[in-house]
Amino acid sequence: MKPHYPPSMDRVKEEVELHLKKDNNLANLFEVYKGILAVQLDYLNKIDATVNLSEEEIKECFRNEKFLMSDNKMKIDTKLFRELLSSVCEAVNEKSPEAPASLLVLPEADEFKEENIKKFLQEIALFSKQELEKFIEETEMDKRTGLNSEIISFVILMSLSPFYSSNMKEVREKTDFTLWRQSYCPVCGQTAVIARHRNEDGARILECWLCHAEWVFPRMECPYCSNKDQKKLRFFYVPGDKARQVHVCESCKKYLKTIDNKLMETDVLLDIEAIATGYLDMLAKKEGYILPVETAVLN
Ligand SMILES: [Zn+2]
Ligand SMILES: [Zn+2]
Repeated sequence: MKPHYPPSMDRVKEEVELHLKKDNNLANLFEVYKGILAVQLDYLNKIDATVNLSEEEIKECFRNEKFLMSDNKMKIDTKLFRELLSSVCEAVNEKSPEAPASLLVLPEADEFKEENIKKFLQEIALFSKQELEKFIEETEMDKRTGLNSEIISFVILMSLSPFYSSNMKEVREKTDFTLWRQSYCPVCGQTAVIARHRNEDGARILECWLCHAEWVFPRMECPYCSNKDQKKLRFFYVPGDKARQVHVCESCKKYLKTIDNKLMETDVLLDIEAIATGYLDMLAKKEGYILPVETAVLN
């Protein structure tokens, strides 16, 4: 399987253009996305991987159903991180008309000062988006910076992403992810929230939104609760766009957006699809389904 990450900027522009032809309302979102991606790709080459595991050690983790960073935390070059954070904040501010000006001074917050940054990054390591937002609210970073927890969490994770990706690429060069069969990422442990059926053979590929590892997961099974009862697994789509689907499980009520590249007869980039298919999230939620990172309300 030829990995999708890192994508070329030309390919990104091409795919974004196709979406904008259908829905120009996405123009702002994609401008921000492209601005951030350009920063991330630039830094990806400057970051050294720090998770030094042999092929055998990696496979041993996978066989034990442990994602690699659960025991082997990556080290983050704090100077590079701060630079990256500043560049990401500048990109968001430049590309988004609604971005608050205080975003530009976020990198000056106490958390990112020389004496605190290491501890801060250790504390938030492996946090999901939701956990990071909660942490930001609990430590009142939002109040102190005049920004909401969602945007702070977003720019921090976007700035951490190239560090995770650099390590993922190093791992990927040593071994593939065929031993891995979980809904969460084999490298950084984040839960996958989007999938594709690859053009080549229709296999379901989950992709990590943070480090961009890609791995195969069986199609006839719910990734989130392992339900294999086909009567409780189904998918729906908006008429006229059958390739963009929402796969749902009646056992756990979770949903997985899935892009059918076999139907499209071409492989597309999931980061771009994730942005373009916001309407599918609304539809899924309206139908009573939840994102895998949310907790089901039992009734
Ligand atoms: Zn990952
Ligand atoms: Zn399920």
